[in-house]
Amino acid sequence: MRGWMKQAAAFVALLVLLLLAASAPAETEAVDVLDSDLPLLVNKDNPVSEDFMPADLVVLNDVMDSKLVKIKYKNTQANRTAAEALTAMLEAARADGVTKWQVSAAYRSFQDQEKMLEKKISYYRNKNSGWSRSRARSAALRTVAEPGCSEHHTGLAIDINVPGASAFKGTKQCKWLHKHCWEYGFILRYPEGKEAITGYSAEAWHIRYVGVEHALIMRDTGLCLEEYLQGIEDGTIDPPDMILVEEVPEDGGEKN
Ligand SMILES: [Zn+2]
Repeated sequence: MRGWMKQAAAFVALLVLLLLAASAPAETEAVDVLDSDLPLLVNKDNPVSEDFMPADLVVLNDVMDSKLVKIKYKNTQANRTAAEALTAMLEAARADGVTKWQVSAAYRSFQDQEKMLEKKISYYRNKNSGWSRSRARSAALRTVAEPGCSEHHTGLAIDINVPGASAFKGTKQCKWLHKHCWEYGFILRYPEGKEAITGYSAEAWHIRYVGVEHALIMRDTGLCLEEYLQGIEDGTIDPPDMILVEEVPEDGGEKN
């Protein structure tokens, strides 16, 4: 090979390597889902991407008392702050004499959600022999969120119920939860009457951690998360007073 040809070949090889490096998937950075002043919104119009990864997940079985709550699936994870709020809430329930709680779901990855949807599609197709895949998919999407559109991806949503009970609605645990969850920073994310706004059927068992300040305003105004965030944007709802952090002087602020 002539000298210039060798050089050209080397140049092409280098170019190919550079292109390959550029197209390799970037390292996914875990997202602090509680970093913002306003609650993170995940729904059909605001999906997370396939590689979305929340930071600060904990295994619920590692951080919660098994006497306080049964974790249905042993490796279930949730956001650390949400798990702490859940513990405080269920301790208060216990003090009120309301026990027997179960967490049936919390954090779910994009891939977990894909598997759940596929399972539901297969279920409909097995049950209805004439159904096309797209028909079964539409039916499945009425109860299972499209991957990316479930707020379980954030680690801030928790499905809570009573171990062994076939329904949650109407139980004393459900009544207690709906009355008190707000005081611990949780909202009922899919309330009755808001289906057209949230895009999901009412779910008595699905709570979402947003922090006490936001939760109390949503309780008092009766707004769902979508309406609340819209209200803040429009200026019709006052957001909670953001806590002003005073700068600590270098001497630690101690007065002699
Ligand atoms: Zn849920």
